[in-house]
Amino acid sequence: MHGGGPTPPATRRGFLKATALAAMSAAAGVTETPGNSPATAVAERPMADARFGVVDLHTHATLKPYLFGAKFWRAHGAPAGFFPLKMCVDLDALMDGGVKTFVCATYVVERQMFTDVWPLGLLASVSPTAAHLATAPMDALTREYLDFAEKMIEEARQRRGDIIEVAHSRADMRRINAAGKICMLHAVEGAHHLNGDIGMVDELFKRGVCCMVVPHLYPNKAGGCADIMGMDMRTRFAPGCFNAKFQDAAGLSDWGHQLVEKLLDVGIIIDPTHGTREYRKRVIEIARNHPKRRPVIMSHVCAPAASRAGHDPLPEDVREIADTGGVVGLMMFFRPELAGRDNAGVESALDAVDFLVQHGGEDVVAMGSDLDGFTTVPKDLRSPRGYRTLREAMLRKYTGDQVEKFLHGNAERVLREGWGK
Ligand SMILES: [Zn+2]
Repeated sequence: MHGGGPTPPATRRGFLKATALAAMSAAAGVTETPGNSPATAVAERPMADARFGVVDLHTHATLKPYLFGAKFWRAHGAPAGFFPLKMCVDLDALMDGGVKTFVCATYVVERQMFTDVWPLGLLASVSPTAAHLATAPMDALTREYLDFAEKMIEEARQRRGDIIEVAHSRADMRRINAAGKICMLHAVEGAHHLNGDIGMVDELFKRGVCCMVVPHLYPNKAGGCADIMGMDMRTRFAPGCFNAKFQDAAGLSDWGHQLVEKLLDVGIIIDPTHGTREYRKRVIEIARNHPKRRPVIMSHVCAPAASRAGHDPLPEDVREIADTGGVVGLMMFFRPELAGRDNAGVESALDAVDFLVQHGGEDVVAMGSDLDGFTTVPKDLRSPRGYRTLREAMLRKYTGDQVEKFLHGNAERVLREGWGK
């Protein structure tokens, strides 16, 4: 443990359950309905056909274990829709979906959220754990979160055996994949985690972080962001929360420019998801002019652009990202007009693949589910298990070679070329 010191899990769990209920479920006007009953623990299962194994470039596998004490090693029944307390990315679901590698994003709540979402602020005034999250230095919380992620996988190994490992380098990743185990990689979402210190990039690189999303839900020292919360139906009715005054759609700052140069130099993949078009354009320009040729990615988006405040890629973004050798990762989402349809997720994903191929070619398509990042998931793609259905649907429309690229080949290329470790 570093910095602010350890946090008792029981307290954390209690606080955060209350938080989630207050700030999300209740405010958004949703109630939880029973999902599928959790499957019983399954021992050994053959991995899916390696040819179509999946690399998921963006998940929040640690978020609910970190916030609510959810157990990654246990099977959960993930319902469709928006159920912030339900876990989607667990060990069984990853195995069932044929996921061979998944990127797990470190995300410590931005400071602004404690003011912007008043129930959180209230909790921070009465709960020591909440106060810790609201006041401990962000770099200390980042280390704490990365430590937590390592422990989560260690616990899964103790409970379920030698079937999953964290890779801290590409050599680790090759070894873990070759042994048929599931590989987890670290990412960090939001430059606020650096607490204003670009020097921390070196430390994150040493710890095995392969990718950094620079903008996130609130403006940070690197620049502004797209206001996805203000635009979201779920948060629109949260009384007194998600106020526009906390948002700023500015582009990359000078400090952000330096950070992007540093990430490119060290070899942490740069990801401007959550930025505006102007922001992305600037990041791509910097990457294009950098002496080390590195791909730029958008790891988790809905496409074609779902008009989420400029968050999702336009045709020109796709083209420019493809030119850097990068990829665009597709979330498990559905287009609003398909809501309620049994195959809404797969249909939306196939349309999104068409869009990406049309504007960036078949080497730009990748997967980045964003599962467990408090997203609203479709019935047919509600957990990593959905990759099975998606793979079958893709194979009806695209060749085996193309599907191989979409599911893992393109993402693996980006990791080879962009991750310097
Ligand atoms: Zn995100």
